[in-house]
Amino acid sequence: MSDPRKERLGDMDLEEFRRIGMRIIDWAADYLGHPDRYPVFPAIRPGDVKGRLAPTPPVEPEPMDAVLTDFEQIILPGITHWNHPRFFAYFANTASGPGILGELLAACLNVNVMLWRTSPAATELEELVLSWLRQMLDLDAGLHGAIMDTASTASMVAIAAARDSAEPTIRLRGMAGQRRMRLYASEQAHSSIEKAAITLGIGQEGVRKIPTDPAFRMVPEALRAAVVEDLGAGLRPFCVAATVGTTSTTSVDPIPAIVSVCREHGLWLHVDAAYAGMAAIVPEHRDVLAGCEGADSLVVNPHKWLFTPMDCSVLYVRDADRLKRAFSLVPEYLRTEGDVTNYMDWGIQLGRRFRALKLWMIVRYFGHEGLAARIREHLRLGQQLAQWVDADPDWERLAPTPFSTVCFRMRPSALACIMRSADEAERESIERELDRLNEALLDEVNKSGRVFLSHTRLHGRYTIRVAIGNIRSDEVAVREAWECLRAAGARLCADERFVSCSRSADEGRGKS
Ligand SMILES: *Cc1c(COP(=O)(O)O)cnc(C)c1O
Repeated sequence: MSDPRKERLGDMDLEEFRRIGMRIIDWAADYLGHPDRYPVFPAIRPGDVKGRLAPTPPVEPEPMDAVLTDFEQIILPGITHWNHPRFFAYFANTASGPGILGELLAACLNVNVMLWRTSPAATELEELVLSWLRQMLDLDAGLHGAIMDTASTASMVAIAAARDSAEPTIRLRGMAGQRRMRLYASEQAHSSIEKAAITLGIGQEGVRKIPTDPAFRMVPEALRAAVVEDLGAGLRPFCVAATVGTTSTTSVDPIPAIVSVCREHGLWLHVDAAYAGMAAIVPEHRDVLAGCEGADSLVVNPHKWLFTPMDCSVLYVRDADRLKRAFSLVPEYLRTEGDVTNYMDWGIQLGRRFRALKLWMIVRYFGHEGLAARIREHLRLGQQLAQWVDADPDWERLAPTPFSTVCFRMRPSALACIMRSADEAERESIERELDRLNEALLDEVNKSGRVFLSHTRLHGRYTIRVAIGNIRSDEVAVREAWECLRAAGARLCADERFVSCSRSADEGRGKS
């Protein structure tokens, strides 16, 4: 019998859509109930997934059941499970139930939120839900928001507006013949700031990296001195990109002092609060964003720590007209009436997804209190892990823990004693061994599939980094990650690859 789909044009049969759709929702509910049935990081090699799938597209229609079978048997085993309660790498994120359902409805409506009239409710809901988010973060009413795909795009758009404000002719003439523009960010700023500079013709050399203090925060005096020096050299300082919650250690730049420097020299202040800004939803942590009333723009990521499925990043600007001056370019076919928001004027995208729907559903489903309670718990878990690390003499924390991300390494206690009396060269050799030890440690726990952690380097040292932020992570999950690390650490310390560690362990035992 021939497949009826070959005779028919148009979309999927609706009874089939309903049947498969129900099956997918059932699958999703089972999956979300137990993402920990899967290894958090898959045991596969590059090319494994592609190698098992047809290299050429199907000529004939295929049954959805066959597609779903491949999804379960080939795609799933190659997935890193960000929904897993023991996903603690990078910054964890969450696809919450209301967020997933919001994505489904948005995909269903498939509106393009470029102009108010291309879907009035979508534009108005975006304005509304960003006002709600602003209120929950206790930011001032002078800020206006737009949803972007990622913080990287949002920061780029903000820096473009800063550039346009400083030198309005660039829009017309480009960068040629301009004085060299200067953008300031700390050594700990996210790479997206430098990428924005690359994209906007400011160049990597146009980004001046300001030193940080021992707690990895920008030193405002060093910022002031750098601006003065650059002015003296004939450069054109225009923008400071400060960070609330840096990616390595979640340090917070001193925003009020940075605001003063920006005011003195007429610089645009952009605040990258992609991860940590959300902590301000918790009333007792509102001061995280203190000083931001002096910022010109600010980015926070609901897709990081507000349980919103990828992607959803929010750019707030103080003066939407300055943003629109940088970007508005309205061809005849897009000219419209009246005093409405046309979000295509707020950035580089014309076509925009209806991301406000999922965010609105999330805020309504959990409420401000529910969201705050969950973030508060993540903050508590971060402090709890920091305490466990501090209480264990074989481990050391390598940065303060202002939020729910903990940076630390294994450093056997006996080795610490040896290091104290060692000369510079011996210390350096032990440091290198500790780097290798901690790298091996991370590799081993990640290979186990039980946890997934990532790393950074702080003061040149290999640092294990545990970032707690998924809605499904609880104290049991954090404890298991810690126990995995300790067990793997004990095993590795006995390994001959780590001579100093095993020797110091023997000596330690001899002494006791
Ligand atoms: C995660 C992060 C970014 C990048 O966010 P995307 O939305 O993935 O582009 C930028 N800055 C900081 C501080 C971050 O933590």
